[in-house]
Amino acid sequence: MTQPTSPSPVKRERTPWKLMTLALVLMAVDFVLGPYIQFPVFFVVPVMLAAWHYNVAWAVLIALAMAGVRFLYHWYWNFPLEVMPATLNTVMRALVLILVAWATARTALLVRRLRKRVEELEAQLPVCKGCGVIRGEDGAWVEVGSLPAKASLHCPTCEEKQYGLYHQSG
Ligand SMILES: [Zn+2]
Repeated sequence: MTQPTSPSPVKRERTPWKLMTLALVLMAVDFVLGPYIQFPVFFVVPVMLAAWHYNVAWAVLIALAMAGVRFLYHWYWNFPLEVMPATLNTVMRALVLILVAWATARTALLVRRLRKRVEELEAQLPVCKGCGVIRGEDGAWVEVGSLPAKASLHCPTCEEKQYGLYHQSG
């Protein structure tokens, strides 16, 4: 018996080079702006994107790298470094980023599952190829907005349009 295949995100096995580049750019900007600007709030951007498009491991890796490098900047800045608050800030920043990574990855997983479920359900609907109406349980055709037509069906109106002419001319 085969395992049911789970929805496979397109980019899961790849390395997020673009996001790592973005992280490097953000770290460079942070370095230029110096210790008094709270630029690290933007560190959430590559972390969220990595968690959404890749996986939580990449997101956590990027989060830890950014928080860690930020910590090292203090020595280059000649900032009056007090090791204890700087360490605490780094730990808090890393924890918040990891939390964001986890929540984003979880939301992405839920969205992928729901999207797959909706596609499965839509595939089972009796949808008219011509105008997109669906046939209800009572046999009546109802409009429900735009749905992809996957069944080989025509509602009576579209059948008339499609084949009525052939019946007349043929
Ligand atoms: Zn129709």
